[in-house]
Order: sequence, then C-alpha cells, then structure tokens
Amino acid sequence: MKSVTSATGRAWIEINLDNLRHNAEVLQELMPRGCRLMAVVKANAYGHGAVLVSSWLQRWGVTAFGVATVDEGIELRRHGIKGEILVFGYTDPARVKEIKKYGLTQTVVDASYAEELDRRGIPVDVHIKIDTGMHRLGYPSDDFESIAGAFNMRCLRIRGMYTHLCCADNENPGDREFTENQIEKFYSVVDYLKTKNIKIPKLHIQSSYGLLNYPKLKCDYARIGIALYGGIKTGSTYLKPDLKPVMFLKARVVHIQTVKTGESVGYGRTFTAKRDSLIAVVSVGYDDGYPRTVRSGCALVNGVYAPLAGRVCMDQLAVDITGIPGVKTGDTVTLIGDGRISAPDVAEHYGSISNELFCRMGERVPVIAVHAGNKPKNA
Ligand SMILES: *Cc1c(COP(=O)(O)O)cnc(C)c1O
Repeated sequence: MKSVTSATGRAWIEINLDNLRHNAEVLQELMPRGCRLMAVVKANAYGHGAVLVSSWLQRWGVTAFGVATVDEGIELRRHGIKGEILVFGYTDPARVKEIKKYGLTQTVVDASYAEELDRRGIPVDVHIKIDTGMHRLGYPSDDFESIAGAFNMRCLRIRGMYTHLCCADNENPGDREFTENQIEKFYSVVDYLKTKNIKIPKLHIQSSYGLLNYPKLKCDYARIGIALYGGIKTGSTYLKPDLKPVMFLKARVVHIQTVKTGESVGYGRTFTAKRDSLIAVVSVGYDDGYPRTVRSGCALVNGVYAPLAGRVCMDQLAVDITGIPGVKTGDTVTLIGDGRISAPDVAEHYGSISNELFCRMGERVPVIAVHAGNKPKNA
C-alpha cells in the first residue's frame, strides 16, 4: 500500500480529488434514473490509491464499490468504507468467514462455485455472474436451470446478477451486434427467472465503455473504473462527457547539460543530438511506472512539451529542453497528466491502454492528494 505523504522531492503522483469528484458527478448524471455508480477501485484504484479514492467518493455519496479480490475488500472495510463492496473475482471458499465478517459481497463465478460456497454453511451476500460471450467468468447464459438453482441455495443471499461486455469500447457494427447479443442473452436469463417467480435482484451490465456507448440500458448499477479516473480517450465514445484526468505523474529536473551535435544520450545510444542540445535529466524511471518502451513521448517542462531523449532508465530519464527558456535544476516535470501527455496518449506510445499505465505506477512513488485548499507547495 502506497503512503500518502508530501514528498515531492523526486518522483510523485498527484491525485486531483476535485477532478475525481467532477468525474463521479458527471458520470452519475449520465445514468438513467435509478442507476447508481459502482466505483471500481480494484488494483489500488488503478494505482490512484484505493483507500484515498474510496473514502473521498464515500464522502460525496457513493455507496457501492467494486474490487477484484477479497483482500482488497477487507482493506477498504478496515479503513472505514461502508456500503456494498462487491468482489468481482474468485475467492477461495475457505475464506467465507472473512467474506461474512467484513460484510463483503462475493461474485458467484459458476455453478460449482455456488455449491462449494453454499456447502460451507455460512450465509453470505453474493452477486451471480452470467457469461454472455466474454468467456471469462460466469454461468453460461443458456444454463437457466443452474442459474435458477442458485436462488434456492440456503446460504447464498443473492443481491445482484451481472454480466460483463467484452467489446463495448467501440462502435464498429460487428462489435455492436455482438454487444447487443450479450445484452439480449442476459435479459433472457432475467425473463426465465421471472417465469419461475424468482425475485429479480439488482442487475448490472455496463462498465465505463458500456455506459458511454450504450447509455440507454436501464440497470441498477454501472461499474465504472477507467472513466472515473479520466482515462478514456477523448472523442472515442458515443457519449463524450467532459472527464478530467485524476492522476498526474511528476518529477524533478535534477541535472542539466549541453550535448554537442553527434553526441548521444543514454543506454544503447538511441538518441543522437542533431544540433547542440540542452538535455535535462529527470528523476523518474520505469520502476516508478513510466514505461521503458515509450520511445517518442514527451514531458511537460515549465509548461512546454519536451521530447524524451533516449531510453527511459530504471530511475531516470532525459528530455530535450533545447529552446525552452529558464529551465533549472529542481523544476517540476509532468510525465502523465493532460494534453499531449494524457494517460491514453502515453499508453498509446507503448501499445497499451491507460488502465495498464495507471496500474503500473511504482511502489516507491508517493501519492499526494490534491484538492481545493490543499495544493502541494512547489509542485
Ligand atoms: C475492472 C472491471 C470493471 C471496470 O471496468 P472499466 O472499463 O475500468 O470501467 C467493471 N466490471 C468488472 C467485472 C471489472 O472487472
């Protein structure tokens, strides 16, 4: 677990809580009446700090949280997070006592899991997962009888039922058809349960792209992760809400030098100066989470974009600051934030997505919460 400190000496992450709140409100407003935001805070809230993010969201009225593991759920409870905490992933049924003790809600990942959990004899809250085509977790959506069977189990208190869309992130016709089909399969399960007079629990289907591309779906929850953190590529979705970046990766200029025409910078000599150049060394590297494979990225130095010069090292990297006025040792450099260094843009530079970029932020990087009235000095 990362510490929340004010250590801005080397490399650090700023979490802008005002932007987080803005995103949560904007997203909640997009949802149909009756649908609630389930804030997905798994993987340490995508590197943003699970306790920090959840406690602020709770303060603003969010009452449902999604995590990947039982331990992530327990950590939230230990830090005073109330409301519903749904564990999306598999939990060893041997840990059923902890599920109960911490008041967590467990996903039932398939029929044999339901039986195993029920057999433990301890009543727990669960959501049933239905597989409608992603083929990861869930009851096959045509296995009506097994699904209905779960509702008759003694120790499963079924509070919800959900599925996950696997290609809702774009609007090409094939993927749209596949997604519509997933939705249809899910509701065919609901219809079957109704014919059996089973009380329908809370239903949810959408995650971030599902909400932004299929906003008309009427569910009880939308499970929102990446959009909450402002990591959606602008303009890539049907709805285009004004989402703001929450995470800013920053570091310091620690050394400045002139590199003459023809001289190189860094491992492998991949950067060669085409002119006499001013090179700043910055105190952040791939162990801090800035990917080594970013080749043509840039950083923001005193408000000006500076291209990377050479390979990213484990603890440091270099940028070309030729022509940028007034740069001095100790100045702040922003590596991930907004504009041309938005998380989706940086991620694209190394063939990934902002979700993965956020998750890789290093253990040694302190997290600083920033909100109105709490701006760190000198950052
Ligand atoms: C991670 C996850 C989400 C959140 O997805 P985003 O695309 O980040 O919004 C939603 N549902 C499940 C089951 C997940 O595992």
